[in-house]
Amino acid sequence: MNLKKIVLILVCAFLLVGCTNKKVDNNEDQTQQDKIEYGLSPYQHYEIGDYEQRCNDLVEKANQGTFDKELYQALYDEALMVDELSATAYIKYCENVNDKTLTDENSYMDDMCKKVANLLATAAHKVTESEVSEEFKTYINNDISYQSYVDYKEKSQEELDLLSEENRLVQEYNTISTSRNKYTCVVNGKTYDYDFLSSEDANYLFEEDYDAYYAGYMECVKAFNNDCGNIYLQLVQIRDKIAKLNGYDSYAEYADKNTYRREYDIKELDSLKSLMKEYGGYIYYYSYSFDRDIDLKVTEEELLKNTKDIMHQITEDVGNHFDLFLDKHIYSIDKSDDRYNGSYMTTLSTKKAGYIFINLNEDYSDYFTLAHEFGHLYNSFYGINPNPIVTNGIYDLMEIHSSGLELLFGEKASELFGDDYEYICSNNILEMLYSITMACIYDDWQRYVYENPNSTLDEINDKFEEIANEYNFYLSKYFWMFTPHNFDSPMYYMSYGVSFYTALQIWYEAVQDFDKGAKIWEALAQSNGYEKSYLDTISDVGLSPFTDEKYGREVIETALVYIDDVYAYYYD
Ligand SMILES: [Zn+2]
Repeated sequence: MNLKKIVLILVCAFLLVGCTNKKVDNNEDQTQQDKIEYGLSPYQHYEIGDYEQRCNDLVEKANQGTFDKELYQALYDEALMVDELSATAYIKYCENVNDKTLTDENSYMDDMCKKVANLLATAAHKVTESEVSEEFKTYINNDISYQSYVDYKEKSQEELDLLSEENRLVQEYNTISTSRNKYTCVVNGKTYDYDFLSSEDANYLFEEDYDAYYAGYMECVKAFNNDCGNIYLQLVQIRDKIAKLNGYDSYAEYADKNTYRREYDIKELDSLKSLMKEYGGYIYYYSYSFDRDIDLKVTEEELLKNTKDIMHQITEDVGNHFDLFLDKHIYSIDKSDDRYNGSYMTTLSTKKAGYIFINLNEDYSDYFTLAHEFGHLYNSFYGINPNPIVTNGIYDLMEIHSSGLELLFGEKASELFGDDYEYICSNNILEMLYSITMACIYDDWQRYVYENPNSTLDEINDKFEEIANEYNFYLSKYFWMFTPHNFDSPMYYMSYGVSFYTALQIWYEAVQDFDKGAKIWEALAQSNGYEKSYLDTISDVGLSPFTDEKYGREVIETALVYIDDVYAYYYD
């Protein structure tokens, strides 16, 4: 799978307003811009034609002392278009992951997008080594974009093939995880499928005969684990080869540097991890104790309307951008068993903002999902990727845009949730603490897996349980296979941990003074997630980084005290 796109899965990328501005205006382009500025353009299949030849021409001219800026711009614009078509094919695929045509088209465009990006970046890299490099640098007019070309290493056909196979395996996982009803077992003479056994409809079965129910349920879990695990082991092998091709010992290291731009010493995560080991037991206890049934059905129409009202109470600018999001219909929001099992915001490289995909639960959790994804989208109106073809954003920052807005949304939702308000909001904060702990667990576990790529499925199952226990999270050893990130966005999860930790600080400020908290969040969400490091951006807006253990302890304890108060109210 295209990591950049995955990026999209949770994060956002941003628009190249910066790049398109450099474009020589002509009437045709102007007309294109007038046509559609936001949302999806009609999809069209792309054929690569003579793209490679034109890239070679660019290099040949550079080697002869001429920088052909019109040719470079045309190649760059075409690469952006392909990038956007690939994002569109992915969204269409996510609307029905069991449709063969959409699946094939997604694979095709994913390969095509990587191929075109590789051709352009390789050619641009050669121009940076030629005698016209200064002229090229002046034309690019952005240090990060130019440096990305300087640092670019051409991908071999072997690596492109590995990336293609990686994408195919992720699609296979998506298919399996949306068709769990194919796993069946017999309980007391009757056949049941995995979906049924995992649902509340099966409650009567385990009340009748728990042992028989459990034996049947575990039979399905193990069959699912066997299939997913087999896919996962292949993914680990592929990723290990990709890391080695790029000169890294392990895929974890490769991803830290190349995918997530973690510009700090990874060992520094240890202070956050030891904090979560200390508080993990409390978080785990509350997570499984907060079990009230909230009977709040939510339709798409209610979701959009009620969210709009609250966004207008957060800040004026957030409200205005939410109106634009509705007005331009920058989303695919629906519910279906065939939809991708997750929600994300993705970038559309030629548009002025990204695009939101949500698979509805049709309950109150949809409000937080929408607030989360809209946090990413809000940032996409502001954050400008200087070069979406070769430059990644900083994910440790990007998930603050989303989770910060979720928490601010919660603070303004008392009328919306009525009597359930305190319960729902404390539960959302609890889920954030839970996710920070899960991020630490998944980070430790993935580092182990990618450092030991020849582990067996039993070994990685057992290792997961062992690491979870270190955090006092008593999870099943199969738990990891239900998290799609482990398959489609390797090593992503720690960015949730780092970001959610920072978002809780924003909540901490907002509880004392809402407008102050909202302003901090807004400043962060309007900042550019490409230009500055995590540490610099955090200190610019007056927050503490995850390395500040003392402040972290204060925030986590405040959150736990709040959760405990609500728990006492509902349960004691
Ligand atoms: Zn997110």
